[in-house]
Amino acid sequence: MSFVFPPAPPVSVPVLGQADRFPVHRIYCVGRNYEEHAKEMGFTGREPPFFFLKPTDSLVVVDAGETGHMPYPSLTQNLHHEIELVVAIGRGGRNIAAADAAQHIFGYAVGLDMTRRDLQNEMKKQGRPWCIGKAFDHSAPIGPITPLSQAGNVNQAEISLQVNGADRQRSNVAKLIWNVAETIEHLSAAWELQPGDLIYTGTPEGVAAVVAGDVLVGQVDGLAPLNIQITK
Ligand code: MN
Repeated sequence: MSFVFPPAPPVSVPVLGQADRFPVHRIYCVGRNYEEHAKEMGFTGREPPFFFLKPTDSLVVVDAGETGHMPYPSLTQNLHHEIELVVAIGRGGRNIAAADAAQHIFGYAVGLDMTRRDLQNEMKKQGRPWCIGKAFDHSAPIGPITPLSQAGNVNQAEISLQVNGADRQRSNVAKLIWNVAETIEHLSAAWELQPGDLIYTGTPEGVAAVVAGDVLVGQVDGLAPLNIQITK
């Protein structure tokens, strides 16, 4: 097969403890999935889960023990961090019951759903798609994937983000409104999941702005941390 120009190389994420990488298919994200974050965004209560996507090539892939770099994006004065547990799907399917969801999980990673909050808020106000606020270049930093067998009990894990050494976000994955299994059930009713899909499961409270030069350390207990610096 030949192409009119060289196709983009496949996007992949390293896997802890093995040479083979995880090839990425799609990136799904869950909105407002922790109660205290829903409140800080002006909402209350348990609503059905809702989803948006980021382009696969918006990932900023950071290897274990390294500090990645995310360029400060254009058009915003209010770039927010959202620390999130990311689920890596190893086996696809549709209409997956929550009780069967674990069989479809390859592993977990720590991710950041970086958000141009000013642009997202403007789109919300106008009832328009969030793409410009959520799906921009470099908007999805991610650390290495920890395979399921090495990940411990992620569903009860502490999740945190520090900026320049100070706590910004700290919660527990147990506080997800829709837990990982329920999220997979809902998501797979709307799309057929494929091996290589990533699911950013939502962020706890404490979202706030970062600026060029800031150093972010994201952690979920039991997983490899994510270290990233915002650059000009
Ligand atoms: Mn998010």
